[in-house]
Amino acid sequence: MSAVPLRNNKAAASAVRAVTVLGATGSIGDSTMDLLRASRDRYQVEALTANTNVLGLATLAKEFGARFAAVADPDRLTELKDALAGTRTECGAGESAIIEAAARPADWVMAAVSGAAGLKPALAAVDRGATVALANKECLVCAGDFFMQRAAKAGACILPADSEHNALFQALGSGNREELVRVIITASGGPFRTWASADIEQATLAQALKHPNWSMGQKITIDSASMMNKGLEVIEAYYLFALTPEEIDVLVHPQSIIHGMVEFSDRSVVAQLGAPDMRTPIAHCLGWPDRIVGPAAKLDLARIGQLTFEEPDFGRFPGLRLAYDALRTGRGATTVYNAANEVAVAAFIAGKIRFGAIARLVEATMEAWVRSGNLAPLTSADDAIAVDHDARNKAATLLPQIALKAS
Ligand code: NAD
Ligand code: MG
Repeated sequence: MSAVPLRNNKAAASAVRAVTVLGATGSIGDSTMDLLRASRDRYQVEALTANTNVLGLATLAKEFGARFAAVADPDRLTELKDALAGTRTECGAGESAIIEAAARPADWVMAAVSGAAGLKPALAAVDRGATVALANKECLVCAGDFFMQRAAKAGACILPADSEHNALFQALGSGNREELVRVIITASGGPFRTWASADIEQATLAQALKHPNWSMGQKITIDSASMMNKGLEVIEAYYLFALTPEEIDVLVHPQSIIHGMVEFSDRSVVAQLGAPDMRTPIAHCLGWPDRIVGPAAKLDLARIGQLTFEEPDFGRFPGLRLAYDALRTGRGATTVYNAANEVAVAAFIAGKIRFGAIARLVEATMEAWVRSGNLAPLTSADDAIAVDHDARNKAATLLPQIALKAS
């Protein structure tokens, strides 16, 4: 049985829900806290986590009366304890404390740590059969088969929080698996949608961070500019909904109003629309199986006037093509794709490589991985983490030569 509930089989929602937000100080965390703030009486915050932002974490923990607050940086425990002195919030620090936060008994967990670091905490929530709103796509890209199997085994309910997957989740309820022809994930095309390859190659960090529609964290904003984000989302959809690569299409839609569509056998295409505001998919996850009041702007299609569509350009955005390659290769290739991309994005932010070299580093790492005969099915979180680790090392080794090579 799939861990993503395909039908709206409503369960009774309890009066006050215990909730945990992993990555509470980030962009998704911020949107989630906003929604919780709007209905304070309906939620009890069990745990909140952050990477290094002790002050932001402590402020939220105080505001929401969190039972537990955890910071990933192990050296910041005293700082966190000082910031929460006089409150009843327990404190923890280090990776194990983030996992503890996820393991504590909340009914609903937002998994919004960025990067592969989000895998173990999300698994801790999954293993106790929680309802997990999954924003962290790297969990699936790194260890999708294994993650979804563990979720199904534990009876966890995975609610897709990424806007495109949330749209597909909503649309999939219109038919069953046998009736599905394909899913369509939309992409804004990012800031470089109309740019020539030579200009994309030289794009600066400031240019890459100017997303036309969405306000998001730095890593995902750069991934949107390279369309690696869409590649990660193709892989995310593959694992979440148990699709084949051929059943997943990407469509460039610069207005970001339609987030995802599902085509069924009778040629009906069911879409989910909304203003580009992450609080809408998060509200859907938070309210599920009911719907709550969302704070996003009302969709005014008459004012928007036109919705336009384009084929994605795999030539100018090779990161998208590489995602399909990774899916078809399987056996850890998507883990390598993600790890190499994280290394490449960090190197781009640090000014070590050009924008165009991000995809080149990912491709070179994937090729080296295949050549070295390292492909093997991932059967545990430790397997996935080991491949992630080794692929990062491989990418770091290849980085200097990629940095030198012009396109
Ligand atoms: P962000 O960088 O704004 O926030 C990340 C959060 O994770 C922060 O709270 C940070 O403190 C925490 N964190 C980072 N590294 C950590 C580590 N090693 N250990 C523990 N905590 C750590 O990122 P974001 O934009 O909120 O994205 C979060 C996740 O959601 C990502 O996987 C991203 O792909 C996904 N996502 C984001 C958006 C969006 O609109 N921002 C949309 C869809 C999916
Ligand atoms: Mg998305």
